[in-house]
Amino acid sequence: MGRRPRNSEGDRAGRVSDSVKPRGDATRAVEVGRKRQWTSLPDQAGSVVNPPVWRASTHLYDDADDHAGGRPNEDGHFFYGRRGGPTQWALAEALTELEPGADSTLLFPSGVAAIATTLLALTRPGDEILFTDNAYEPTRNIAMGLLKAHGVSPVAFDPLDLDGFPALFTDRTRAVMLESPGSLTMEVCDVPALAAIAREHGATTVLDNTWASPLGFAAIEHGCDVSVMSLTKHVGGHSDLMMGSASGTARAMARIRRHAQFLGQVVSPDDASLALRGLRTMPLRLGRSTASATAVARWLADRKEVSAVLCPMLPGATGHELWLRDFTGGCGLFSFILADGADEAARRRLLDGAELFGIGFSWGGFESLVTPFDPAPIHGLRAWPPGIDTGSGLGVRLSIGLEDPDDLIADLDAAFAAMGRA
Ligand SMILES: *Cc1c(COP(=O)(O)O)cnc(C)c1O
Repeated sequence: MGRRPRNSEGDRAGRVSDSVKPRGDATRAVEVGRKRQWTSLPDQAGSVVNPPVWRASTHLYDDADDHAGGRPNEDGHFFYGRRGGPTQWALAEALTELEPGADSTLLFPSGVAAIATTLLALTRPGDEILFTDNAYEPTRNIAMGLLKAHGVSPVAFDPLDLDGFPALFTDRTRAVMLESPGSLTMEVCDVPALAAIAREHGATTVLDNTWASPLGFAAIEHGCDVSVMSLTKHVGGHSDLMMGSASGTARAMARIRRHAQFLGQVVSPDDASLALRGLRTMPLRLGRSTASATAVARWLADRKEVSAVLCPMLPGATGHELWLRDFTGGCGLFSFILADGADEAARRRLLDGAELFGIGFSWGGFESLVTPFDPAPIHGLRAWPPGIDTGSGLGVRLSIGLEDPDDLIADLDAAFAAMGRA
């Protein structure tokens, strides 16, 4: 590896002026956020690889003049611990560099905190917000509960109904909340078209980009204003961390930053350091889990116990063509529906029979997980994607981890056998 001098501004990975070819995802994930000023000591040669964990509530001022001098109360400057320190700044900058077109990134103690703060920041009492009907359940609860309590009217929409979408806008519609693929039912929607319609109507588009991450879907380049992520999932990657982020355009981020400060949103430097560690291997993990998930999904599609596989990477899945058109990657998370004849007890035998799959919420970790789900009580407009065999109506969601895919398939094979033993 050649030595590269870094200036104090730091290199912007992927935008290096003397290299013609844009750098690949794996290279960028290694390089981002490693500014020399965060990895070295003043007046000393050399540096360390990772930004150290800067634990701090108090940021000291050099003298009374410095304190009186109006140092900026904002990220990237020593002011007070709630503005973070170099460990958090390095993570935020790394995420900004990975999201093409983003001006900046804010960190939150969870993905839900990122979504709630973002939507609160973008709406005022009297406004309306359109939110996708297949949103992550807590997102729906934020719209129907928190925002409503603040005088914002939430309106659910079907993300697959492009023709009906423009008619939903009124002169009070301020924001649109998208998620693609949708939580649980995994439909990929036409984000560029929906975001363009929102923009025509003067509304700000927020995308929950947790599934694809910016490596799989460049949200801002596809017309969104803000891309939020649960870093708990792919970025953390090891099921030991809760965190969220919002990255976006300068205009949107200015509002979200103000609200994040009102609400005192801050993450610990220890957690930021863990997230940075996870980020370095995210492209490798995503590549592996996408390939394994595709193999498992193909295998499931041929099982008589399965009526439909809801996996964006699979031909025939709802929005697969849009996934091919817009996305540059996938991940390990997808769902399937048990065929007619299965009942709740059978589904429990399946879950208990899958030994390599932990039963638990969350996803995107190195280990595979399985959870049962039923979208009907969650989705308000449409339970399942149109045109599929909904069989027994019993859903199962898998998060495929880094195990050998053959072992996962053998494990599921045994689990189906256990399911059949009533
Ligand atoms: C998990 C998840 C969130 C929430 O993230 P937390 O970090 O658990 O608060 C948001 N959106 C999606 C799609 C998720 O799966």
